[in-house]
Amino acid sequence: MAEAPLLDTFGRLHDNLRISVTDRCNIRCFYCMPEDGVKFMPRQEILSFEEIARVARVAVSMGVRKLRLTGGEPLLRKDLPVLIEKLTAIPGVEDIALTTNAVLLSDQAADLYKAGLRRLNVHLDTLDRDRFFQITRRDDFNKVMAGIDTALSLGFGPIKINAVAVKNLVEPDIVPLARFGRERGIEIRYIEFMPLDAQGIWDKAKVLLQDDMIRLLSTAIGPLEEIPDRDPRAPASEYRFADGVGRVGFISSVSHPFCLNCNRIRLTSDGKLRYCLFAIEETDVKGLLRGNASDDEIRATIRETVTRKWIGHEINSQKFVAPPRPMYSIGG
Ligand code: SF4
Repeated sequence: MAEAPLLDTFGRLHDNLRISVTDRCNIRCFYCMPEDGVKFMPRQEILSFEEIARVARVAVSMGVRKLRLTGGEPLLRKDLPVLIEKLTAIPGVEDIALTTNAVLLSDQAADLYKAGLRRLNVHLDTLDRDRFFQITRRDDFNKVMAGIDTALSLGFGPIKINAVAVKNLVEPDIVPLARFGRERGIEIRYIEFMPLDAQGIWDKAKVLLQDDMIRLLSTAIGPLEEIPDRDPRAPASEYRFADGVGRVGFISSVSHPFCLNCNRIRLTSDGKLRYCLFAIEETDVKGLLRGNASDDEIRATIRETVTRKWIGHEINSQKFVAPPRPMYSIGG
């Protein structure tokens, strides 16, 4: 009997699984984690590639079609191409993407490409080396740029740049990033700063809003035309420049929430299922994996997780409670 589609109680179909393969990271973005004293999860708590592939295979049997690998920084996970080969071999998987800070990309791009990966999102907030250091507390700007060049030369695509938009910090970067993307055929995704940081520094006043960025871009480069939703469930609203050169996207959880079309569930590196980036509760699947549970038991747990999914985050309401788990151990 065919598996029923993975619908939540609001009728949203879930076909996108985001998989965090590690909580470790090799940079320290101030809006994500403290510079020192971060306690990462012990290795034995982290799912093996076989365990990740099993959850993915079961999820695909329930209608999941898109997989995204995240971290922390996923390229810190040794032999990641092995996992990518396992995931690309699952019948029914239509798309695999990776979100990386690209610090290690130059060294690993060829093997990732050989393993079947094509789609990359590179996290980069600025093209200014000093501001990169100010944001990440690491002097790895040149490595990131080299990583992007290597990926372009190898034929990865689409390549998108995810830029977190913190107000009174990255305004000078909005236009240069768009120009960089126009020159290289890379779509820039501006992400409104979200309350997911480990230190609790988020404040709505620190969010550079989509409309502010559109004003900056239109004034400096030219008019932007909104692209009709190719996939209304994709988080970004997309625009093209009227002169036909280049596209930008906005992931605007604060000013333009998109939860009503959400199609995503998440698997953390320590084996927890999360129905939302901001979820307070999560469901353990590692115990099932290591307790010889059947695929049907894992299916039931995935379905139960989706059935319990709320309508969406409450960032703009008094009721908002930041999730106990910080961004670096959830993954984008
Ligand atoms: S905030 Fe949660 S419900 Fe809303 S789009 Fe993101 S993951 Fe989906």
